[in-house]
Amino acid sequence: GSGGRDVADGVQDVDLRTDAPHSARIYDYLLGGKDNYPADRAAAEEIIKDWVNLPKSMRANRHFMRRVTRHLAVERGFRQFLDIGTGLPTSPNLHEVAQAAAPDARVVYVDNDPTVLIHARALLTSTPEGRTTYLDADFRAPKQILDSRELRETLDLDRPVALSVIAMLQFIVDDEVAKGVIDRLMEPLAPGSVLALSTVTAESAPEEVTGGVAAYNARGIPTIARSKEQVEAFFDGLELLDPGVVLVNHWHADDLAAAVDDAHVHMYGGLARKP
Ligand code: SAH
Repeated sequence: GSGGRDVADGVQDVDLRTDAPHSARIYDYLLGGKDNYPADRAAAEEIIKDWVNLPKSMRANRHFMRRVTRHLAVERGFRQFLDIGTGLPTSPNLHEVAQAAAPDARVVYVDNDPTVLIHARALLTSTPEGRTTYLDADFRAPKQILDSRELRETLDLDRPVALSVIAMLQFIVDDEVAKGVIDRLMEPLAPGSVLALSTVTAESAPEEVTGGVAAYNARGIPTIARSKEQVEAFFDGLELLDPGVVLVNHWHADDLAAAVDDAHVHMYGGLARKP
């Protein structure tokens, strides 16, 4: 069973605002998906005039998400995952990676995009031993996330949880707000819990990414590129695990990741443990 409430209930009332571009649908379009509208495609085409390697960077990030999830399930024995800023279903999704390694893995997905909500059913598949739940909520509302029935019925907070915030913090432009929410989310999690995150940097391709980020902002989607120091600061209070904050293609690289050119990767990523 998939668990959780039936997310299709009430979904007919959702306003997708298809006239305005949405970050999840731009991302979906650039990854070759079909869950996007003309405004999203027009914005995406405009953005990649500047940010030519954005699709490559997104694919490197997606590959990072899969490696870090497998690492957590296989090497570190994690069975509980809380993923915020899930995105539109792009197989293999986090729960598929986790449950392939550990069929009893439990996953709570959170996103605030109405298009993701509509497609959440595609995410709500699960092994019979595990569980997958979807929560329609905003990262900036950590109390709502932590108190939700979806989370409480799926995760046991007395045991370690892997919190992942992958390719989402570039849309939370205020560092203090982002760090405050991260701390609030980590606070009730058991010792040994981890934070995996990745977010946009311009350090590997300054002109290209600075132009691309400006194009996002011009389309009404507040976006920021961060330095390595800024990304490291998100892990303050936690123990950064090997190899620290690196371009995502360098994080426990396999052959595929090792073959990627750094200039095409515009995301820093890292994994840290709560003492
Ligand atoms: N984690 C996925 C998707 C990244 S795209 C991956 O790495 O492949 C970024 C996602 O974050 C989008 O689905 C967008 O809807 C979501 N998002 C952006 N701002 C958010 C917020 N404030 N709260 C929750 N989700 C948010």
